[in-house]
Amino acid sequence: MTAERARITVFDTTLRDGEQSPGCSMNQQEKLRLAHQLDRLGVDVIEAGFPIASDGDFESVRAIASVVRRPIIAGLARACRPDIERAWEALQHAARPRIHVFLATSDIHLQYKLRITRDQCVEQAREAIRLAKSLCDDVEFSPEDATRTEPEFLCRVLEAVVEAGATTLNIPDTVGYTVPSEFGALITTIRQRVKGIENVIISAHCHNDLGMAVANALAAVAAGARQVECTINGIGERAGNASLEEIVMAMRVRPDRYPYETGVVGDQIFASSQMLSEITGVPVQPNKAITGRNAFAHEAGIHQDGMLKNPLTYEIMTPQSVGVPDSKLVLGKHSGRHALSIRCEQLGYQFDRRALDDIYRRFVRLADKIKHVEDHHLLELIRDTHKPSGSATPLIEKIVPPQAAVVNAPVAEPTPEPSKPFPVGPQTNAFGVPLPVHGDAHHEQTQQEDYLWGV
Ligand SMILES: [Zn+2]
Repeated sequence: MTAERARITVFDTTLRDGEQSPGCSMNQQEKLRLAHQLDRLGVDVIEAGFPIASDGDFESVRAIASVVRRPIIAGLARACRPDIERAWEALQHAARPRIHVFLATSDIHLQYKLRITRDQCVEQAREAIRLAKSLCDDVEFSPEDATRTEPEFLCRVLEAVVEAGATTLNIPDTVGYTVPSEFGALITTIRQRVKGIENVIISAHCHNDLGMAVANALAAVAAGARQVECTINGIGERAGNASLEEIVMAMRVRPDRYPYETGVVGDQIFASSQMLSEITGVPVQPNKAITGRNAFAHEAGIHQDGMLKNPLTYEIMTPQSVGVPDSKLVLGKHSGRHALSIRCEQLGYQFDRRALDDIYRRFVRLADKIKHVEDHHLLELIRDTHKPSGSATPLIEKIVPPQAAVVNAPVAEPTPEPSKPFPVGPQTNAFGVPLPVHGDAHHEQTQQEDYLWGV
């Protein structure tokens, strides 16, 4: 157990890939809150957004880059000048900026989506990385749809971008198609064939369409990848991304099989999961590994009996190791501010003194009415305090929310999201291909699909 374990970079894309998924959009203030929580969670890289996609996305990336200073802050860009320059504009004041450039490489994407040849693809990738590198030292490249790209051609593109200065090569299974043995073999092939690969970090970005995102990511790590891209609660396009908490805990619970370290702070996992769920309004699947409410529940009598005799009978990790609140801490009207503040933290909230006072006053009034204040009551109360119009059935009367209720000050002034989230610039796509002219609604949809390309 004392043998040196390889350090894996945890690249969190909850705010980009996750945020792009249906029902998970967040405003700037919410993104900032979550970015601060990801910082506490100890992720190495926060992909904060896709700056050219909308003014709101741009402002969010810029705000996160200016106040979250420990992790690397990454911004996504397609392989073209306007995207890369816009990404840099948003990132330039970050303590540790990273430009993440992507370009599809599979024949099906080249022919039908980009309408370019393989040679043009290599050239475009090379030029894009050169431009990004001229602005920022830390440059990541993703060949979109890598797992359906002919391996020989994939290696050719990767070699070109390594030569042009890419420092991380991310291999996306964009459509969630690969399986662990195949994905591991692909990483091995890349390590064997790409010239200069020893000087860059290989990364895995897996989607969960067949429920194998985490298994695929772990197979990539076993084959030599040293960065994993993942999201809290596994949110992301379609069936989602590899779940951060599952990857991290697989490594912690099975170091015999996965002898790797991450910088993730285990007891911040549950709070992160709760905060994301609360912000997006998307509940965590009850039986979700690690963060679902049933993940540590033992209902069957024989299990309960075993657990009482020795938790090891049915428990491979403790709830405390991932920050699940101690259920023995019951909140009632005699609970003090301290207990309340601890429970709030466990649920993903940190309040300054004034905001806590406000929550506490409401809590006491509520505890007067009902005996035990459960987590969902508390969450509703917090939501109600922060978003006076957000709750349809407030538990208690509303009071004017003070400004200090904004969590984790200092926070940059939130910019209202523009009503049209996507730029309506020149009527060509990023590759100069004219976009068809449509009525307004349809046009917006076309633009949206355009920006929802991702890795
Ligand atoms: Zn993705």
